[in-house]
Amino acid sequence: MASLPAKMTGAVLPGNSSVELQSYDLPVPGHGEVLIRVKSSTICGSDIRAIYREHLGKGPEGYQGVIAGHEPCGQIVREGPGCRRFKEGDRVIVYHISGCGLCNDCRRGYMISCTSVRYRRAYGWQRDGGMADYMLAEEKDLVLLPDSLSYSDGAQVACGFGTVYEGLQKIGISGDDAVLVTGLGPVGLATAMLARAMGSTLIIGTDIAPGRLSLAKKLGLCDQVFPSGPDNVEQVRALTGGDGVEKAIDCSANAQARLCCIQATRKWGKICFIGEGGSVSFQPSPDIIHDQKTIFGSWVTNIWRMEELVERLVRWNLHPDTLITHRFPLERAGEAYSLMAAGDCGKVAVAFDEELL
Ligand SMILES: [Zn+2]
Ligand SMILES: [Zn+2]
Repeated sequence: MASLPAKMTGAVLPGNSSVELQSYDLPVPGHGEVLIRVKSSTICGSDIRAIYREHLGKGPEGYQGVIAGHEPCGQIVREGPGCRRFKEGDRVIVYHISGCGLCNDCRRGYMISCTSVRYRRAYGWQRDGGMADYMLAEEKDLVLLPDSLSYSDGAQVACGFGTVYEGLQKIGISGDDAVLVTGLGPVGLATAMLARAMGSTLIIGTDIAPGRLSLAKKLGLCDQVFPSGPDNVEQVRALTGGDGVEKAIDCSANAQARLCCIQATRKWGKICFIGEGGSVSFQPSPDIIHDQKTIFGSWVTNIWRMEELVERLVRWNLHPDTLITHRFPLERAGEAYSLMAAGDCGKVAVAFDEELL
């Protein structure tokens, strides 16, 4: 066993757009738990929306003052007693919510929806997360990271790419589909990346941030991008023979963008809402009923689909870490969060060891 330090640093979010670094005793894994050396820990839009600026969340989004970070990836350095599959040295992704394991949602693999008030605890919300040198995780929450994926690839699988993959599976994407993505933050960019891998040859994106539009073009993820605005529906129709796209995904949570998704989708098309919060108003008869359209909501994913996604990423030679535009060491976590809050960037990671080079 490698010798480990007695102390470690972790970052907490007081809720006034600042980050506090604190010193902790190195945690000891209990039964069925492992200690992970964190290698990459990415920042999520939900961290900014519900924790960093102010503590907005209630229930499953209620932040309990723990070490932040729900998108960690790292290497197991200690096993607690009773582990059955994972062992020291394994590279692992953490499904970001630890569920009770026994309710119907947990049995489906959707620990995100665990109904146990007592045992449902999300990493970085109700139990210590990945913005630290080390973290504890339950073995049942782990997914093995293949050798060909980096830790920064893995960090984005659970929350960002997993959420997107689930939504795209629900509406089904193939080479038949032109796809509209509204909101080109990290989740929107991931949507474009996976929609391309699943076969779409025409991907159209919209966003208010010029930096995000140019990043989507530069990375070849979108074939056409438009600044968000009242002309978006007509612009999308003009690129699709006047009919609109077959599939649309909203990653912005913006009311106008959601309406654009609905109205820029053709008859019999499918729309998926992934972006959280906000509202939308539309007229059911002309906007969906008469054109036979279907709107899906999708929240995170389940752990078997996460394993499936990891396998697909290898098969498709896709690397989520290409969406990371900035990496910071833990000591500079404050800069990482403030950059992400400003929004004109891709994915932002707090990285360690080889992931920081
Ligand atoms: Zn997240
Ligand atoms: Zn449960």
